[in-house]
Amino acid sequence: MNAAEVRSCIRQQLVGDLMLGVRSAPLLLDPRKRAVASPGVAAAPAAAASADTVERLRVLDERYVKGCTRCGLAKTRTQTVFGQGNPDARLVFVGEAPGFEEDRQGLAFVGRSGELLTRMIIAMGTSRDEVFICNVLKCRPPSNRDPAADEILACSPYLREQLEAISPEVIVALGAPAAKTLLATTTGIGRLRGRFHDYNISGESVPLMPTYHPAYLLRSPGEKGKAWADLQMVMELLGLVAPGKR
Ligand code: URA
Repeated sequence: MNAAEVRSCIRQQLVGDLMLGVRSAPLLLDPRKRAVASPGVAAAPAAAASADTVERLRVLDERYVKGCTRCGLAKTRTQTVFGQGNPDARLVFVGEAPGFEEDRQGLAFVGRSGELLTRMIIAMGTSRDEVFICNVLKCRPPSNRDPAADEILACSPYLREQLEAISPEVIVALGAPAAKTLLATTTGIGRLRGRFHDYNISGESVPLMPTYHPAYLLRSPGEKGKAWADLQMVMELLGLVAPGKR
């Protein structure tokens, strides 16, 4: 590593510490790995796949999600919140459901939780434009109550189709409802987090990391270190950090 690369690693380390408010273990980025792994460096076949993916997501949103009446939330929502980001994302974040601000703007994670999620993503050495961000539910539950089982059941096919279309290398499930839905389990987030699980996309096993929801981290800042440790494992898998250098 040359001096500029070392400076970049240190900057990354500080970003993690400052943005998340945690004192993380020494983090060394390997910029050569990042260059190879960067989603921005798409080869020709990937560019072709992208047009397909964009169309698949567009059809899902326009034809199915926007006018969805599969559950009672259709009556109380201002608008559906499909999710947004890079259709060719290597990394997808799945949250719980739109809140007040998301319902108002039609975008995922744009409220207070979204601000923290943005800091987490930047601390990982990537950006909101490079990843894809969506939720289990595409409509806001009134008063931000927990999603009901029938609502999750009704909405899950949309999330599955999103994940199949994007076909990411890693999925991060933010909070219990996302982790439990994607892993079809009743195990709590505290026991699920901290290790990769398998999510099946078209017969392929995709690593899924459950971690704490940003809203929970805002209420319990003492848990940020655990979330950051989870995200560092994701970074390592994506080549955003040199193996064994966490
Ligand atoms: N905003 C979202 O879009 N999803 C959540 O789970 C929380 C806030």
